[in-house]
Amino acid sequence: MHTPYPQLFTPLDLGFTTLPNRVLMGSMHTGLEEKKDNLQALAAYFAARARGGVGLMVTGGIAPNRQGWLASFGAKMTSRGEVAKHRNVTQAVHAEGGKICMQILHAGRYGMHPFLVAPSALKAPISPFRPWEMSRRLIRATIEDFANAAALSREAGYDGVEIMGSEGYLINQFIAPRTNHRRDEWGGDWQGRMRFPLEIMRKVREKAGKDFIVIFRVSMLDLVEEGSTWEEVEELALAIEAAGATMINTGIGWHEARVPTIATLVPRGAYAWVTKRLMGKLQIPLIATNRINTPEKAEEILREGYANMVSMARPFLADPDFVRKAQTARADEINTCIACNQACLDHIFKGKTASCLVNPRACKESTVDGGRFTVDGSRWTDTGSPITNNQSTNNTKVAVVGAGPAGLSAATELAAMGREVHLFEASGEIGGQFNMAKRIPGKEEFHETLRYFGKMIEKNGVVLHLNTRVDANFLIQNNFTEVVVATGVLPRNPKIEGIDHPKVLSYIDVLLHKKPVGKTVAIIGAGGIGFDVAVFLTNHQSTNQPITTYQHEWGIDENYKNRGGITKSQPEHPPRQVWLLQRSKGKVGERLGKTTGWAHRLTLKSRHVQMWNEVEYQKIDDAGLHITVKGKSQLLEVENVIVCAGQESMRDLYAPLLAAGLHVHLIGGAKAAGELDAKRAIEEGWKLTFSA
Ligand code: FAD
Ligand code: NAP
Ligand code: SF4
Repeated sequence: MHTPYPQLFTPLDLGFTTLPNRVLMGSMHTGLEEKKDNLQALAAYFAARARGGVGLMVTGGIAPNRQGWLASFGAKMTSRGEVAKHRNVTQAVHAEGGKICMQILHAGRYGMHPFLVAPSALKAPISPFRPWEMSRRLIRATIEDFANAAALSREAGYDGVEIMGSEGYLINQFIAPRTNHRRDEWGGDWQGRMRFPLEIMRKVREKAGKDFIVIFRVSMLDLVEEGSTWEEVEELALAIEAAGATMINTGIGWHEARVPTIATLVPRGAYAWVTKRLMGKLQIPLIATNRINTPEKAEEILREGYANMVSMARPFLADPDFVRKAQTARADEINTCIACNQACLDHIFKGKTASCLVNPRACKESTVDGGRFTVDGSRWTDTGSPITNNQSTNNTKVAVVGAGPAGLSAATELAAMGREVHLFEASGEIGGQFNMAKRIPGKEEFHETLRYFGKMIEKNGVVLHLNTRVDANFLIQNNFTEVVVATGVLPRNPKIEGIDHPKVLSYIDVLLHKKPVGKTVAIIGAGGIGFDVAVFLTNHQSTNQPITTYQHEWGIDENYKNRGGITKSQPEHPPRQVWLLQRSKGKVGERLGKTTGWAHRLTLKSRHVQMWNEVEYQKIDDAGLHITVKGKSQLLEVENVIVCAGQESMRDLYAPLLAAGLHVHLIGGAKAAGELDAKRAIEEGWKLTFSA
């Protein structure tokens, strides 16, 4: 079949086995690994991705022993009992024609438990625990444990393993002088520091046998001080190849690095250059990673010789059928990962099961959509969708009011079930607040979600009425018996003297109506929107930051002059002076995403944005914004004051529709404005299908 992505769909011959395409579903911990269900949910999750056609998948990290746990009672592969559970995963994947490797990950000093160990007793800056220094005996035993885990994974039916040698975990801790202060044969000079990964590679190959995929993930750019030099990376990769690796995957940045490497502000394909530096030096295939989320970008990386294969992880949470859609010229139907981290990494770091903001089904495959796939003995059977589709109401017309994320999700999901859906939107475009979010530099990916919903409207036959603000009478008169109210929110207008002064603007004025903004600005409210407005106002490019600007801003050195590939950051001078203010006491930006908030704060800090807490707003006049900060009066002589003080629900339709006896659903911002985000809005739209 003709494919627009010929490189992506060129099979990869590994000698003893052939992968059907160049797409690796990279390792990602989901939290399903620790579920007490004999890994049934994990099996359903991987089966769905195998069915979607991905060439090879890698599980989340599985520890080779207890000391290697990421957290207490984390997943490990040390016994026959664990082998039996993992067979559920491998059988489910093989039944769908897929291939899967188990990642062996020893957390080392990143372990969140009391038994953590490391080459030297040095506490990680992101951990509260100090590790125990490993004895030589323990080092030997750990190498055996890696090999044992590989052999057991083979017994469990895995097609191979990935040895996690990057991101600052144990193996990486042995390699880098930053964390290896040993003076024995496992440390000291480069030969000593490289001994641990090489011994693991050799032993794994020896114990797991020849016809078994072994991917080694090499940290090619540590992004921390006292990391590896490029010469060391190259030498290690050559030695790993000689020791029997089948492929080498790219690792970028330690977890403790103060450089965002996968957040949405990172340009697409921003790290492919790192893998390219190794291309041509080895015989075995190289895999590029980080912020590759479309088939176009993946194809470009392969076509331009940056790598032999591409790894994507989060894009498969967002769309399990990514590969199949790309292969069958339906790339415009891909639900693209927007790199927000809100439902995947942020969940994992809070100890919750991962899911996906744009695809709330992710990781729930065994209970909802995936309820279709249940284990029948050792065989996987499609038992049909459990989502009830009430035939008695199936002929009724559904009105969805508001085409923001909540309304878009509801309308497209209900239409996919066969309901006649009319989607009414007051403005001239779908998207609601996403039309502002997509204008924030570094949030361009939000365009993709709107492209996806636009395509689903077309595909599922939603009748879209743009520029149509509807009221209760209209809906009653037009015989809608069922209405979804997804009318969103209105910005809060705080009661401050002078709030109607001409210098006061709302975030909607700035982001949507593009009103001019002066050189000195105070922002009232430091929530997600206040931060985004501050980024918008202090950025030079209005959109699509080039990779070089990102590298300068974060001190990433493409010439690799220093260890770890980092250099002094050189942020551009911001075009305005901005003050970002909040009334409450805590750190400004405290409630931003767990895995991205720090990067947003650092961005604003480097742009000299003044972030102040404990502010009371007194009045706004020609002179500026009068405030007290921690009780002290002050005047900010600013040209504009921008209000980002949260939002209030807009649901005036709800009560009259209920009173008229209609079946009414309230979702998204219309339901509740507090703690609203797109994750909740999209999930609530989808959940309507449970009762529809
Ligand atoms: P809305 O998006 O507000 O949509 C409501 C829609 O209803 C609007 O299009 C409106 O025109 C329409 N409407 C209202 N009344 C009527 C009527 N009577 N008839 C017809 N149409 C009507 N969230 C995140 O999770 N992550 C982020 O990174 C993020 N960034 C953001 C950045 C910015 C700058 C902004 C402004 C918001 C951001 N959000 C983010 C918030 C997110 O966009 C909202 O949570 C989400 O849009 C709420 O969805 P909703 O469908 O409930 O409401
Ligand atoms: P928000 O996060 O609730 O922040 C509102 C801000 O306004 C707070 O700083 C609040 O802090 C202040 N405020 C509240 N009432 C006020 C009043 N009466 N007077 C003055 N200040 C007041 O809301 P938001 O920034 O509007 O964002 C809306 C939603 O979009 C959020 O819930 C968020 O989840 C989502 N969003 C997410 C992202 C993201 O990157 N994940 C980005 C943008 C938006 P004080 O009370 O301390 O002053
Ligand atoms: Fe991607 Fe956000 Fe979904 Fe995570 S939650 S997979 S980052 S879209």
